[in-house]
Amino acid sequence: MARYTGSVCRLCRREGLKLYLKGDRCYTSKCAVDRRSYAPGQHGQSRKKVSEYGLQLREKQKARRIYGILERQFKRYFERAEKQQGVTGENLLRLLERRLDNVVYRLGLSTSRIEARQLVRHGHFTVNGRRVNIPSFLVRVGDVVAVRDKSRESPRIKELLERAADKALPGWLEYEPGQARGRLVALPVRDQIDVPVQEHLIVELYSR
Ligand code: SF4
Repeated sequence: MARYTGSVCRLCRREGLKLYLKGDRCYTSKCAVDRRSYAPGQHGQSRKKVSEYGLQLREKQKARRIYGILERQFKRYFERAEKQQGVTGENLLRLLERRLDNVVYRLGLSTSRIEARQLVRHGHFTVNGRRVNIPSFLVRVGDVVAVRDKSRESPRIKELLERAADKALPGWLEYEPGQARGRLVALPVRDQIDVPVQEHLIVELYSR
């Protein structure tokens, strides 16, 4: 599946807030949002009145960028969320949270979703004992996500495992540090998904 390969700090600057796409760097003074808190490009510092459509578009772009998903796939998540029972916006976020790369990130086994995606692609994780290298794999309730035995020898994975042991987890996930594995114990509810997105604006955008 294709992915965005341009500058990620530019994406944060466009959205006007930190999206924490670069892991540790985001918490340092090198963060581009802290250094240049205006939109990128020649007209980045000019003031513009934002239309209702513009607001909805920005919200959708922000969600896409947080989870690292391109437009076509994001639309597919939306269509799937629409068919599910319940509130479409919440269904959408729940689907995005269940992606394997996101679960790895939430478990603290990577410093960013981008790193999680790369680790998954390189085959460092198993789901219910089977190696899975598809970042968009949807984890279900009860599934166990673990670091592969062989991968635990990697210096980077060792470092991440040490960090993960201290990480506070959202209520829908459990983690066993000794076993280097986590489990999805329930589907996340909106209050447990800490992304700065107003999902109803995304629903409005796609309902136009
Ligand atoms: Fe965004 Fe992180 Fe880059 Fe700051 S350092 S602009 S939060 S990706």
